[in-house]
Amino acid sequence: MSTVSTVNGGISFWYASEGTPPPREPLPGDSTADVCIVGGGYTGLWTAYYLKKAVPFLNITVLEAKFCGYGASGRNGGWLYNGIAGRDRYARLHGHDAAVRLQQAMNATVGEVIRVAGEEDIDADIHHGGVLEVARTPAQLARLKDLHSVEIAFGETDRVLRGARETAEHIRVSGAVGSSWTPHGARLHPAKLVKGLADAVEALGVTLHESTPVTEIKPKHAVTPYGTVRAPYVLRCTEGFTAGLKGHRRTWLPMNSSMIVTEPLSEALWDTIGWDGRETLGDTAHAYMYAQRTADNRIAIGGRGIPYRYGSATDNDGRTQPATVEALRDLLVHFFPTTARTRIDHAWSGVLGVPRDWCATVTLDRSTGLGWAGGYVGSGVATANLAARTLRDLIQQDSGQAGPTELTTLPWVDHKVRRWEPEPFRWLGVHTLYAAYRTADRREATSSRPTTDPLAKAADRIAGRH
Ligand SMILES: Cc1cc2nc3c(=O)[nH]c(=O)nc-3n(C[C@H](O)[C@H](O)[C@H](O)COP(=O)(O)OP(=O)(O)OC[C@H]3O[C@@H](n4cnc5c(N)ncnc54)[C@H](O)[C@@H]3O)c2cc1C
Repeated sequence: MSTVSTVNGGISFWYASEGTPPPREPLPGDSTADVCIVGGGYTGLWTAYYLKKAVPFLNITVLEAKFCGYGASGRNGGWLYNGIAGRDRYARLHGHDAAVRLQQAMNATVGEVIRVAGEEDIDADIHHGGVLEVARTPAQLARLKDLHSVEIAFGETDRVLRGARETAEHIRVSGAVGSSWTPHGARLHPAKLVKGLADAVEALGVTLHESTPVTEIKPKHAVTPYGTVRAPYVLRCTEGFTAGLKGHRRTWLPMNSSMIVTEPLSEALWDTIGWDGRETLGDTAHAYMYAQRTADNRIAIGGRGIPYRYGSATDNDGRTQPATVEALRDLLVHFFPTTARTRIDHAWSGVLGVPRDWCATVTLDRSTGLGWAGGYVGSGVATANLAARTLRDLIQQDSGQAGPTELTTLPWVDHKVRRWEPEPFRWLGVHTLYAAYRTADRREATSSRPTTDPLAKAADRIAGRH
């Protein structure tokens, strides 16, 4: 089946199925707030939510360039799971026990998002089926086993390793030689979550201004074309779009990720696949894939595509390259050969924020009142919630309303990293990196050796990932 009839862009399939929300008013002119939050994705909205819940009289303003959920929060793969970018580096920098505390906080975050969604009546199609990662080559299997032991060492004793036959009892992925399953994950509908969250935050009394791009953030000021919001605390929650802010071109690299979604699959087709547990599904390739079985029985599957646009440019309302759509469709059919004639309804892309050392961070600079959270790489659905609760605690601590908490002492707080290289080195570096990963994946697919291809190891080292 070709992809000629596939809708490309339009933000994401999640919005095509849900509709974009009615717009909120832009900032009408200069104003003041106790806390000004720049960016209306999960990070900004969760931060507004927890701050307002903790201190109901706080005057909080969220400034959003387009509409709440326009970014990755309305486009992602819907894996609400306990992974956090940089944990292993934090273990090296701060010790194993500190990283275990970070991991435990992430484990609890999955339940926290589900709890609040229930409490606030946000129906985000959440299904708590865990995370299933499959291996399809001997090298992937060796990495999967390593991953399995590392996660157990970080306290995930409820993780299960499965062989080929046992994996097939759960899901029939072509060529799967094993899998690892953890209960610490859930499938969700990203746009339903972010829309529900924006409504919940507004109902609490937070002011949301949409169509309001912030051009510059400076201490106690968020500057927009319509006026400036002055606030003792200004929080940057712009993730993959951060490079568009004055002075931040090289702070976090906007990395693309693209997705496709199939038409709803027939019962007969599902019988060939299984996947009754509706786990989120991933693999251990270097250019990894991620997928979910949606509430309306489609397969949504994503991967890297063209990883990065020159000069830190971002996509045009989610449009992705036709070659990426074809590549993702091929991947789908490799995984599930019975989908060869299945229609691909929609394709889209979005940007993630990638710091130079691939470590997520949350920071409040006490001397300026400027804060930020992000750099989640591909794991921000749950992490944004942990970041938000941490920003709440950091602000409460700074304003003398509370002391340090368990969250403010986690090792990702106040982590500093150098900026990315200028162009053309940034573009060349990222493209070379992903070309190396794709070559390594191809070589591993035809090799019987259970070892990671040296090209991928070298790429990891050069990229600063390990
Ligand atoms: C295709 C894709 C798939 C993904 N899949 C997963 C997954 O399955 N699981 C997972 O854990 N993570 C996933 N991620 C990552 C995850 O979605 C993000 O880490 C998370 O949504 C980040 O939330 P955020 O609020 O920090 O950023 P965003 O959601 O990107 O929000 C930033 C907001 O800031 C606004 N903004 C930007 N610049 C300005 C400005 N100057 N002024 C005002 N507003 C501005 C934007 O319009 C946007 O709404 C995926 C990401 C993508 C792109």
